[in-house]
Amino acid sequence: MARIAVGGFQHETNTFAPQQATWDDFVRADAWPGLLRGPEMIGAVEGFNIPIAGAVKKLAELGHEIVPLAWAAAPPASYVTADAFARMWAMFDEDLRKKGPFDAIYLDLHGAMVAENTQDGEGELLKRIRGLVGSDLPIVASLDYHANLTPDMAKLATALVGYRTYPHIDMAVTGYRAIELLDRLLKEKRPVHRAYRQLDFLIPLVWQCTFIEPAKSIFDLVGELEAGEKSHNQGIVSVTHTPGFPPADIAQCGPALVVYGHDKEAVEAAADKLAAAVKAQEKAFAGELLDPDAAALRAIELSKTAKKPIVLADVQDNPGAGGTSDTVGLLAALMRNKAKGAVIGMIVDEGAAKAAVETGEGNVMRRGIGAVVGYAGEMPVEADWRVVKLGNGKFTGTGPFYGGAKFQIGPMALVTDEASGVSAVLACKRIQAADQEMFRHVGVEPATVPILGLKSTVHFRADFQPIAETILVVQSPGAHITDPVEMPYKHLRLGIKLKPMGPVWNGTPA
Ligand SMILES: [Zn+2]
Repeated sequence: MARIAVGGFQHETNTFAPQQATWDDFVRADAWPGLLRGPEMIGAVEGFNIPIAGAVKKLAELGHEIVPLAWAAAPPASYVTADAFARMWAMFDEDLRKKGPFDAIYLDLHGAMVAENTQDGEGELLKRIRGLVGSDLPIVASLDYHANLTPDMAKLATALVGYRTYPHIDMAVTGYRAIELLDRLLKEKRPVHRAYRQLDFLIPLVWQCTFIEPAKSIFDLVGELEAGEKSHNQGIVSVTHTPGFPPADIAQCGPALVVYGHDKEAVEAAADKLAAAVKAQEKAFAGELLDPDAAALRAIELSKTAKKPIVLADVQDNPGAGGTSDTVGLLAALMRNKAKGAVIGMIVDEGAAKAAVETGEGNVMRRGIGAVVGYAGEMPVEADWRVVKLGNGKFTGTGPFYGGAKFQIGPMALVTDEASGVSAVLACKRIQAADQEMFRHVGVEPATVPILGLKSTVHFRADFQPIAETILVVQSPGAHITDPVEMPYKHLRLGIKLKPMGPVWNGTPA
């Protein structure tokens, strides 16, 4: 039995977002628990699909003594305030001084934290911890798939273990795997060699999904490199690849990988092999973004012979990534090009949804829908909208991403513009179009629709890819900028490409 200190500090920082992550944001519970400190942590994380929950479970199974430090996470936002960073550090500092000695430390980190006081939140945290516990104590941290894994993080941690799925369905599993590795390192006490590599092009989030190529094959290789060598009981101990989080204006932004093992040559060779495999797919990562009219026209053409829906991913207006879910670029293009039978959801417009309720099923309302916030100077789409079906917004998700989630989002409506044959699903609250039930709730069976517009970047793929003939990615107005070339970077390292096959950063903002 060993004494293992356990803590976490999680943030995914989009340095281009409007609002900072304050201390309150870390303290408050949301979909994840709020700030936890001391023994209450153990029960409070149980059952969550988060790394620390998996870690605590595995530590208990192995019979190790868990010494809870502090754990906190805040929703994605811009810079973590210096105040929040200082307050969190004060807890780590006090607990690490008072609760030791430890045999090892496990940390639940994201890997893409940028704070007012540092470009590398996790590197800074690890540096301060090393300052207290010294350079020899094993520190193993789990990381998000979107970590910008920096040289300092690689150097300061004994080992880093990343997620392997996006959408992330293995968060708790990754915490569990991190503890398996920690336990192995403690028991074997053999020196571990580390090989770290960075790739030289940013990968937009929309092309990082592990349901599709090339990420799917790359992560198959990650698993093979680790498992294959393990079965021979030599060489490689752990392999992690993080495709990165492009909306972070820092020098170490971008994809990276780290391999650990006892055989230096095998470790270096595995790192080279994986880096070469990612590099070889650079072109495949450079997916096509269509403007709304091109997307509508291609979808109409494809749907003539398709047996399943053509899905148009309205990726920039994803409410799960800061989008308003009310932009109308794709809706207007579908109507303009008479994409008969097409359905788009969700258009978040409380006024229109309530007006549909007042109008009643079967009746027509003449009004504009969408563009409530008016992002990118858009105007509501005016038409004679027939109210086809109303819903009260209470339903339960059935797909892999939202399965079991109990939605209560207020009035919803399916409205159809009879002139073009295009329909929209109206909603009152921002909700990512990532579950088929959102359409069924207003009488639409998604699999039977010729063209389906979805306001989601990646998460929709879990439930909609199986019913889609093909998926086209649309660059319609939205707050979640998909093409890194459009981001106003200042701090990237020289020589990195802004996207796969894209322009090289030369220090001059666009
Ligand atoms: Zn992530």
